[in-house]
Amino acid sequence: MFSYIFMKILESRPHRYDWGIDFLTKGQAGKIKEHIVTNFVRSGMTVLDVGCGTGDLAVRAARAGAFVTGVDISEGMLAVAQERLHENGLENKVVLHHAGVVEIDNLFDEKSFDLIASTLVMSELYPEEREWALKALFRILKPDGKLLVFSEVRPKHFLKRAIYYVLRFPLALMTYLISQTGTKPVRNLVDEMRQAGFEIIKERYSFLESLVTVVARRSKVTQPAAVARVMKPDQDRSQIKSLFDFCGRWFPNPVVPGLRRIGTPDRNSPVVVTGNFHLTVRRVERALTNQNCYLLVVQSKGINVWCASAGGEMNTHSIITALKTSDIASLVDHRELILPQLSAPGIDTKLLKKMSGWKGKWGPVYAGSLPEFLANSHTKTQKQCRVRFDLSFRMEMLFAMNFLLWLFFCAIALAIHPAWAVVMTLTFWGAGFILYAGYYLLPFKGGWSKALMIVIAAIAVFVGISVHITGHPWHYTGWMIFTSLVILSIGFDLKGIVGDQSSEAEAFLHKLGFKSVGRLFLSKGVHMGFITQDKSRCVNCNTCVKVCPVGVYGIAENKKDIIIVDDSTCLKCNGCVIQCRQKALSLS
Ligand code: SF4
Ligand code: SF4
Repeated sequence: MFSYIFMKILESRPHRYDWGIDFLTKGQAGKIKEHIVTNFVRSGMTVLDVGCGTGDLAVRAARAGAFVTGVDISEGMLAVAQERLHENGLENKVVLHHAGVVEIDNLFDEKSFDLIASTLVMSELYPEEREWALKALFRILKPDGKLLVFSEVRPKHFLKRAIYYVLRFPLALMTYLISQTGTKPVRNLVDEMRQAGFEIIKERYSFLESLVTVVARRSKVTQPAAVARVMKPDQDRSQIKSLFDFCGRWFPNPVVPGLRRIGTPDRNSPVVVTGNFHLTVRRVERALTNQNCYLLVVQSKGINVWCASAGGEMNTHSIITALKTSDIASLVDHRELILPQLSAPGIDTKLLKKMSGWKGKWGPVYAGSLPEFLANSHTKTQKQCRVRFDLSFRMEMLFAMNFLLWLFFCAIALAIHPAWAVVMTLTFWGAGFILYAGYYLLPFKGGWSKALMIVIAAIAVFVGISVHITGHPWHYTGWMIFTSLVILSIGFDLKGIVGDQSSEAEAFLHKLGFKSVGRLFLSKGVHMGFITQDKSRCVNCNTCVKVCPVGVYGIAENKKDIIIVDDSTCLKCNGCVIQCRQKALSLS
């Protein structure tokens, strides 16, 4: 259990993943894989490693003579796996696929594998995903083949469950704070496997019954057909999550992905897509209140659409997964999805069409524009393509992004003296208000320089008070240092939060070699350079105009060509580069 929870942290560090897992499990993880290879893998077998990660099991099985296929959703993990195959000269014996578990039915023919292994993957999936994945595994397993699942599960025995949750809570909390992610132990894995058509050969539990190894084969029972599951708007509203939306915006706040029925949709009703961030889902549902449509909530790891797409968390695979598990295709006759414009950096519409048959159409930036967009035959105005960083947005961000930081400084101040907490609170929100409300009025371009300017002003005030009261300037040095720290922390990612420029904090951490801090800063979201357009490739398709949220592109004087009209506002989000089919755009 200990190792499993920390595995979530290690997942964001693919190169250190195997080392970390072996260290934390004192070699147990390696032993499980060795057990699989020794007892189940035979030379000449076809083996599928679902969630192959860095390819450890795949390499071991290939060395034992098997022909191995590995599937993983993480590009970082697959890159490490590929290096490992190259080092071991096993490139001809192992094939790797970048895909989600739910997509495997598209990749392989029926009855393709002698052995399918899934280690520590099932508890990462939502029940609908797991149901779909197990059915797909049933289909691609040979009649005499075996499925081997190693997973975290919820102990059945009351006492063991109580001990398990007591031990798990601090580790899960720490993991969430560091990596902003977590897992849910599966309640009835064995039952779910049976329902998918498997016959259980063996199940072996760990001491606390929190980890299980299940060996299964195909039973003769026919699988029931999938039935579309549709939720109602607000069905999963949570007061705690709403509170977190309001004051803990740094952290992911997920809802269960899936389909929501809005009003009374028919077979021609639009299908609107959004990410599974609680706040976004509530806002989109509210905006669509008087519509008749479907809302497809896809996995974005509980992060807002823009950050999740730029960081690779909301991608083509998430959409394909939601399409399949919701079975929306059985409810409508058309095959068009209205995608949020800000998901452009993460979604490959060409791949989406190829893999699912669904066409993606770019919707407006804000949920509030959806009714107008739908009424206007799914076309949007220029205004609906733009992000706004107005005062109300900045005030919302001031509170939502800084409330927890204020609590943290309050705790420190209270530990020193209650009076410090009062002064610190006034300083904190006063400086925050000046920085957020006056962002565009304050001199200097960068958020850090603006914060430094406030720090200097605050120090000057302290020096003045000190001279006035004590006669010498540095009597309140402790206060000065504490206040400076408070103000600098408010300004740490000011530019990124306020949103009109790319994040300084993210770029700085990237330079220091930190590719990510959990999911807070994701290196995939950091793009440098200036946007350039190769006119010889451009076919004036207009896509870049539709996806750019800050109006970098426009129409040339000849009223035909699409050109860069103002690159100074470019946020380097990479959306246009990803969406340009002609590869006419680059950030260089
Ligand atoms: S998306 Fe590419 S091809 Fe289309 S108008 Fe823009 S630059 Fe030209
Ligand atoms: S021009 Fe810049 S801001 Fe606009 S979509 Fe492209 S990368 Fe993003």
